[in-house]
Amino acid sequence: MLKTGLVYDPIYLLHNPGRDHPERPERLAFMVKHLETTGLLARLQPVPPYQASIDWVVRVHHPGYIEHVAEVCRRGHGYLNSLDTGVCCDSYHIALMAVGGVLSAIDAVMAGEVKNAFCAVRPPGHHAEADRAMGFCLFNNVAIAARYLQVNYQIERILIVDWDVHHGNGTQATFYDDPTVLYFSVHQYPHYPGSGSEREKGIDDGTGYTINVPMAAGCGDEDYVKTLQDQLEPSARKFKPNFVLISAGFDAHKDDPLSNMFVSEKGFAQMTAFVKGIAEGYCDGRLVSVLEGGYNLPALANSVHVHISALCGTG
Ligand SMILES: [Zn+2]
Repeated sequence: MLKTGLVYDPIYLLHNPGRDHPERPERLAFMVKHLETTGLLARLQPVPPYQASIDWVVRVHHPGYIEHVAEVCRRGHGYLNSLDTGVCCDSYHIALMAVGGVLSAIDAVMAGEVKNAFCAVRPPGHHAEADRAMGFCLFNNVAIAARYLQVNYQIERILIVDWDVHHGNGTQATFYDDPTVLYFSVHQYPHYPGSGSEREKGIDDGTGYTINVPMAAGCGDEDYVKTLQDQLEPSARKFKPNFVLISAGFDAHKDDPLSNMFVSEKGFAQMTAFVKGIAEGYCDGRLVSVLEGGYNLPALANSVHVHISALCGTG
């Protein structure tokens, strides 16, 4: 039986956004250690990342912006576009490795080497826009992955489920006029980055293919699961995705310092099982989940554990 794949490489620990930054290397180090000690790691199929070719990155980002990221990193350290997105000399290379990690997971799923995959990568991606870094994100890993699926594998319709507690403004902007990618986001609202009202539904041919479910602070497991049942399920039924990507942030967790939601590990397990069910219903289970936020180390590690367990199909 095919296993669930895991993309991880210690190289992801080298991206340093600055002292006392919440998006710190320990997020991954602690998580992977937890997966190891609980025995889950041994049940996963390792999927090695590679450095993404710029040819894929330019499908989403402007060449001038990519060069800007490279240039700031060459200088050794600095900020990209805003003071929350710091980089070090390794960050450009590692951001390309994060993109390449997701592409590698897609290759493994498409080749039938794994049944689905989780990408424990950083920096995260869903706030990154075509020409700017934002919210700890350099390159939009999930958006680039969707284009890669379409161009490299002729996958027609892609569903992106983004349950990070923050709205994925970069992913939304990438596909706002595009009916081939259904972007579904559930997030705390009002909250950073400010976008993601339910009135934002897409434009031109893309109208109706962006679905935002803004939720007030204080929501928990039941609210999230109900949102997926009531709003994602009927949209997915109409859209019939050929591949499912998850922007898997775990910062809606009740212990997360960057939000005011109350999701527990149980909720993340249920949400994972639900989205996995959609992938099984429409596209033979083809699903790649990509880490976005999650800033309390034990909460993140425990949430990722139940998320991967649900992807494995072992509860
Ligand atoms: Zn977030």
